[in-house]
Amino acid sequence: MNQEPSVFVSLLPLVYIAVTVIKGWLFARIAKIVGKSFGLYFVLGIFPISDFIALILLGNQDTIRCPQCAERIRKEAKKCRHCGHEINT
Ligand SMILES: [Zn+2]
Repeated sequence: MNQEPSVFVSLLPLVYIAVTVIKGWLFARIAKIVGKSFGLYFVLGIFPISDFIALILLGNQDTIRCPQCAERIRKEAKKCRHCGHEINT
């Protein structure tokens, strides 16, 4: 009985590494969906802050930056809603 907690504790680093690698892989998959570098985002995905970055990436999927005012606008937009610049794609 006394041995069990120490066995569990000794396994924690392995569990942490496994979760981290899986997270990096998932993050890299997201990066591929939004057209970013797989390898770079795999490395970024390993950091704890990646959860927030992933959310931002997924949230920004349908947006581009206006070339005129650099505000985020919808990809389908013909005209910027911030400055009125016409987008020709
Ligand atoms: Zn604009």
